[in-house]
Amino acid sequence: MKIDILTLFPEMFAPLKSSILGRATESGKLEINVHDIRDFTENKHKKCDDAPFGGGAGMVMTAQPVGSAIESVDPEHKAKRIYLSPRGRVFNQTIAKEYADTGNILLLCGHYEGVDQRAIDLFIDEELSVGDYVLTGGEIPAMAVTDAVSRYVDGVINRESLKEESFSNGLLEYPQYTHPQEYRGLKVPDVLLSGNHAEIDKWRAEKAREITEKSRPDLLEK
Ligand code: SAM
Repeated sequence: MKIDILTLFPEMFAPLKSSILGRATESGKLEINVHDIRDFTENKHKKCDDAPFGGGAGMVMTAQPVGSAIESVDPEHKAKRIYLSPRGRVFNQTIAKEYADTGNILLLCGHYEGVDQRAIDLFIDEELSVGDYVLTGGEIPAMAVTDAVSRYVDGVINRESLKEESFSNGLLEYPQYTHPQEYRGLKVPDVLLSGNHAEIDKWRAEKAREITEKSRPDLLEK
């Protein structure tokens, strides 16, 4: 799978070179390309933003460098083109899987007050939000989306990990424990040490339901 990220701040994506995603890109299971929108501006001062028509606070990213960057990176419109935006559909695990199945995605990161609407109308397939709050830029949302989508790409993580984790079956995950068996007076539940896998599965299912009821009852309603 190929993920193209378009941003004015490519240096913010250094974390994608670490850990699981770093190993996946090094081994070629995943291709992540970060493109600097500024490289595509026709403005002689490399300017990529301007004041909003109609007045108001802040600056707006101009359409030309964004449009040229998208056309250069995805000339045949093979990728699903996504603009990270608080106005979009709210991202979740189902959408992460949907994008991974799509093949290639292109993530456009806004900054300042956002992107000139004409670049969105002309070049974007979907606006995507990471939640009902406003961040300074689309870079952190793009990293969250890249991470969540990449986990579904073959060979990036162990397939088994995807089966029983939060949201995989509409519930949140049960509690996990590892060594030592006792930490500061708190013991690992006996059932997990019993070796009885039917009982362990039953306990985990009960705990998953309990946690979901407490933290996210809306998931049960679905
Ligand atoms: N003026 C915009 C509004 O009120 O909807 C907010 C602009 S925000 C300060 C700058 C950029 O951050 C946006 O263009 C978008 O790319 C990104 N951003 C901020 N919050 C986001 C969120 N919840 N989900 C996805 N992207 C977000």
